Amino acid sequence: MEQAIISQSIKDVVQQQRSFFQSKKTIDISYRIEQLRKLKSLIEQYEDDFIQALHDDLRKNEFEAYATEIGFVLADINKTLNKLVKWAKPKRVHTPPFFYVASSYIVSEPYGNTLIISPWNYPFQLLLAPLVGALAAGNTAILKPSELAPATSVLVTKMINEHFPSSYIHVIEGAVEETKELLSYKFDYVFFTGSTRVGQIVYEAAAKHLTPVTLELGGKSPCIVDSETHLDYTAKRIVWGKFINMGQTCIAPDYILVNEEIKAAFIEKVAFYINKFYGEDPQQSDSLGRIINHSHFDRLVSYIHHGNVLVGGEYDRDEKYIAPTILDQVELDSPLMGEEIFGPILPIISYDKLGEAIDFINDKPKPLALYIFSTNNRTVDMLIKQTSSGGVAVNDTLMHIVNPNLPFGGVGDSGIGAYHGKSSFDLFSHKRSVLHRSFLIEEPIRYAPYKMKRSWLKKIMDWAL
Ligand code: NAD
Repeated sequence: MEQAIISQSIKDVVQQQRSFFQSKKTIDISYRIEQLRKLKSLIEQYEDDFIQALHDDLRKNEFEAYATEIGFVLADINKTLNKLVKWAKPKRVHTPPFFYVASSYIVSEPYGNTLIISPWNYPFQLLLAPLVGALAAGNTAILKPSELAPATSVLVTKMINEHFPSSYIHVIEGAVEETKELLSYKFDYVFFTGSTRVGQIVYEAAAKHLTPVTLELGGKSPCIVDSETHLDYTAKRIVWGKFINMGQTCIAPDYILVNEEIKAAFIEKVAFYINKFYGEDPQQSDSLGRIINHSHFDRLVSYIHHGNVLVGGEYDRDEKYIAPTILDQVELDSPLMGEEIFGPILPIISYDKLGEAIDFINDKPKPLALYIFSTNNRTVDMLIKQTSSGGVAVNDTLMHIVNPNLPFGGVGDSGIGAYHGKSSFDLFSHKRSVLHRSFLIEEPIRYAPYKMKRSWLKKIMDWAL
């Protein structure tokens, strides 16, 4: 009975949003700007509560919570508010002489009702950043936060559902059952962030309605450390990017491929920075988060035994704590190297020739990110040309996703589609082509009965198209 009530209400919300979109209210740019401003002011109003919720869910430090979640989304809204009028204007394109007299342009129109499904690791950012794009482009949205970050899920539901009409934006909390039900309805766009396994389920469900999708998935993002590099900054930037949010970042360096010549010196530096950032006993550091739940904790602890512990290796199940851990001599055919790690464990593998590192990467599914540390531009170019990944950062980790002018997304197993900044607006807009002709000139040759010789037709098409 209870299930029947839930089903009814999800179905109702989907229907309400379809009807509201048909009212064409969201086509108006000033309406979109007004709603984005409202979202921004609500986020500011709830800022302290979200800092607390992110601490409750993942023990996120306030600095990390603001920089990577709340501040990140606010910056995205600010940029969108500044640029939306420009982005939304029809874009004129060249019209070949063949069409004389005519103009051609591309109109960005909203898809309609959208569904945004998010994971638990950045539970605020990964739900609200896609929403900014969806609203900017003039869509309605149903948001499905992750059930594994319950404090953030409850708070985001309160913030959205108490302040926006359900016919425009609405949060549906829940887990697998609710998501499956949502996916059984017709949406005009589905934006999913999560694992590759669930991405396949979402893709299949969307295909039944021919609904376009964005899939922001995961994978094993490699990090190559060349012998020619600034070793100190390299180690520092890798330690930061790996252990932020306790390693539970989709683009965290998953494993290191280091040139054999500098392996020992590199490991020494990494150990130095782990100590410098998190102290002698990292469990006491309030800059380190916690593992999301016991099932992920147990999975991660089982990985530790597939390598030789060089740094860390300690854990505490009650606290869901695992020390920043560095491994070498890893078993290459173990789950540690077969699955996405998604935790504070960093395997280090050495290579002799760069080609070996390239083959190692290309033997695995295409990753979401690739990191290259090298001061040799030939090495950098070669690595970029001979591998594939969603994105690349050279001489840093994670920071490529902070630049709103770089589209963020995967390729192959790591996803489909990319967003952030203008790319979010474009992703949530259908690009509608318009050819607008006048009645001034008629070209009789195109009509039946056809008289023109093929040789003449060729000449005309070569010249005029
Ligand atoms: P997940 O795939 O388990 O869950 C994501 C969402 O799908 C959740 O809202 C969940 O409720 C729902 N879901 C789970 N099982 C489902 C099912 N059987 N049917 C329908 N819906 C279902 O992912 P997660 O554990 O929350 O997040 C971790 C994964 O997300 C990692 O693989 C990580 O790399 C990836 N990720 C990717 C990005 C990115 O931007 N590309 C960002 C963060 C995380």
